[in-house]
Amino acid sequence: MPTKLQVLEQYFGYPAFRPGQEELIDALLDHRDAVGIMPTGAGKSLCYQVPALLMEGITLVVSPLISLMKDQVAALVQNGVRGAYLNSSLSWNQYQAALRNARAGVYKIIYVAPERLLTPEFQNFAQNAVISMVTVDEAHCVSQWGQDFRPSYLSIPEFVETLPQRPVVSAFTATATPRVRNDILSLLALRDPWITVTSFDRPNLYLEVRRPKDRLQETLGLLAEHREKSGIIYCATRKAVEDVCAALQEHGYAATRYHAGLTDQERQKNQEDFLYDRASVMVATNAFGMGIDKSNVGFVIHYNMPKDLESYYQEAGRAGRDGQPAECFLLYNGQDVGLNRFLFSRSEENQDLDEKALEQLTQLNERRLQAMTNYCHTTACLREYILHYFGEHAPTQCGNCYNCTGHFQQVDITSEGRDILSCVRYLRQRFGMKMVLDVLRGSKSEKVLRMGFDKLPIHGKLAHYKEDALREMVNALLLQGFLTQSGGEFPTLALGPRAEDLLRGQESVYMRLRSEEAPEPVRRFPRDVPKSDPALLKRLRELRTTLSRSQNIPMYIIFSNATLEAMAAYQPTTPAEFLEIPGVGQAKLQKYGKAFLDAISHWKEEQTGS
Ligand code: ADP
Ligand code: ZN
Repeated sequence: MPTKLQVLEQYFGYPAFRPGQEELIDALLDHRDAVGIMPTGAGKSLCYQVPALLMEGITLVVSPLISLMKDQVAALVQNGVRGAYLNSSLSWNQYQAALRNARAGVYKIIYVAPERLLTPEFQNFAQNAVISMVTVDEAHCVSQWGQDFRPSYLSIPEFVETLPQRPVVSAFTATATPRVRNDILSLLALRDPWITVTSFDRPNLYLEVRRPKDRLQETLGLLAEHREKSGIIYCATRKAVEDVCAALQEHGYAATRYHAGLTDQERQKNQEDFLYDRASVMVATNAFGMGIDKSNVGFVIHYNMPKDLESYYQEAGRAGRDGQPAECFLLYNGQDVGLNRFLFSRSEENQDLDEKALEQLTQLNERRLQAMTNYCHTTACLREYILHYFGEHAPTQCGNCYNCTGHFQQVDITSEGRDILSCVRYLRQRFGMKMVLDVLRGSKSEKVLRMGFDKLPIHGKLAHYKEDALREMVNALLLQGFLTQSGGEFPTLALGPRAEDLLRGQESVYMRLRSEEAPEPVRRFPRDVPKSDPALLKRLRELRTTLSRSQNIPMYIIFSNATLEAMAAYQPTTPAEFLEIPGVGQAKLQKYGKAFLDAISHWKEEQTGS
């Protein structure tokens, strides 16, 4: 029986476990249920794939998306693991063949869609097979509090109960606020599970929020700085996807698009163009991305603010999965807030809910939207803000986000803050941002006059400020707990827990403002990039492209960028040396060793020959 480290080396080609992996694997091998909450790119798959290879019998992986299953199985097969998937993308004949093979014990790991679990056909197989582990991938789908709620996930425990012998159950997710975490534990009926939560920090991601006047121009400017890289641009609507994609193509970019309005064939084709690097930029709605493991995405631009931080961090997190420095830009405009409310109100996925559940969900969405909006306004460390939202403590300065690297001025807004709070109080905490700003700026709008607010002593008190500047101040007061904002379609401003102290003159308020003459931020990346020879790297990339085309599998499934860089740095010449490269296991040595070793020795000969 090999050890877990041997399996890691032999199949996956890695010399050591990453944080969190080993303890989860140990728990599962010990027949204990386990939950892994780890950010995208942390390496969740290995946490169940390694034990699956060490256990007797079959591991079933419940997975929500067809593309995700395909990718995972393709990667497994490349690594010499016998895997398969069962979902609606298979024809009847293919499905029967796969089940037959499964019965015959051909597969160690089988991915299955949750809807299949209780079907008679699958039951018939499952009742007669040795199933050692059931793994729930993207486990947050079980919770109504998360995004991507998938009702059929709720039947997973029932399926587990039907099995003649209870297998060990493991669950993995990248997005789990404390509430979702609790749902995973209780709704999946886990038994005294081992729980590992690794840091959600992705230190190689640079974070920045911009507020451009013209988003398209800003995007073109960003792209010009990233010509060589592959990237994703997320837009809120199909129309924006169409417009942005067309504009980029006009400017000579190899851009493609993805949204729910395209035919299946076109979506599939565009997605593959992007995965295979035939298109360098993907312009898409949030329909794109779950299950896309493309590891060499160098930047993600959000053309609109997404509906919540869960979505934002997941989408932005698709950059830099290979551990290389990558950049995430959010282009914010105040109108995005209303746009998100509108999109939610029209969303079809909520039609099954009763009135009470819908009301709850609306409130929840409003709170999430507020937190997302605050992210766009905060002048504190962006990384800290996100990590804090996910329940993690983090240093207050990360050194790799705009707010940490940009230069700010501290401005005292105590007096203005007091005026704003008084205004909210005069309005009896019954009005929203707009009315508060109108009154402070001395508006004589019809509504102000009708309510008689022009008679208030506070009317026009801050008339010398522009509306935008006042809005910033209100946001700073909200962030610091001097004001609060109600949920709902028309949120109202009310006094926050710290308001009294400010009104009584016992507290001061400061706000950080971007100073105009601040120099361009210096970006620091915490990780050292291995020094590889660029000419050799280019040669190896070309070889990977050729192999990818001839076998029709994505490049990153052959070798990741990080693996190629290591090859170009260490320049192995023997199979044993080749095996030392992170990401090279036995199967890949067999398949690709000769081709890459030949390329490296040719290149070396050319160097000494000339
Ligand atoms: P997740 O599912 O958590 O988003 P993946 O399982 O797709 O992440 O892993 C992300 C990348 O990290 C993959 O390329 C994987 O091969 C790599 N990886 C996983 N574990 C290790 C390890 N112990 N050492 C090196 N690379 C690893
Ligand atoms: Zn920071």
